[in-house]
Amino acid sequence: MENPIAISKLNDFIFCPVSIYFHDLDIETEKMTYQSACQLNGTAAHETIDSKRYSSKKNVLQGIDVYCEKYNIYGKIDIFDDEKGILTERKKKILKIYDGYIYQLYGEYFCLVEMGYKINELRLYSMSDNKVYPIALPQYNSKYFEGFIKVIKDIDEFELSNYIPSSRLKCENCIYEELCSFSLLK
Ligand code: SF4
Repeated sequence: MENPIAISKLNDFIFCPVSIYFHDLDIETEKMTYQSACQLNGTAAHETIDSKRYSSKKNVLQGIDVYCEKYNIYGKIDIFDDEKGILTERKKKILKIYDGYIYQLYGEYFCLVEMGYKINELRLYSMSDNKVYPIALPQYNSKYFEGFIKVIKDIDEFELSNYIPSSRLKCENCIYEELCSFSLLK
């Protein structure tokens, strides 16, 4: 079996496969001149959850570590209301629902299902404008469910040495550009 995949890397991989190799580096993002909304949108939103400040309600799980053997993925869930069966993934501001946001939610969903929880609803929540975006459960959304499976397979099979970036624009907007020898700006 391949190494487990961090759920949080799914979005990075879609943005650029090379970026998952930078994902775990201790990067001081506030010092960067540009922060890609796609790559960093969840960072501020999760600061609250990581410090366990969101809720003390007993039926709300927050920031717990999860793993799914079936898809060999791991990560942290954002907020799960066990009583209502609602799983929420918060973002600082959602301007567009990127595929990676949905795959991240699906990853958390499958981990919780394997742990025996019943999930009725999935939601993305945009904190700055207080908007909720309902996301269909994977069994009712074959397009995104198949996309989720494909991105996991693609990560498992990805060969860095064979990769050639194709988007200069992505490199211009990439938080890892200064560190990346694959950058098209060099
Ligand atoms: S700089 Fe370009 S090639 Fe490197 S990780 Fe970023 S987007 Fe990918």
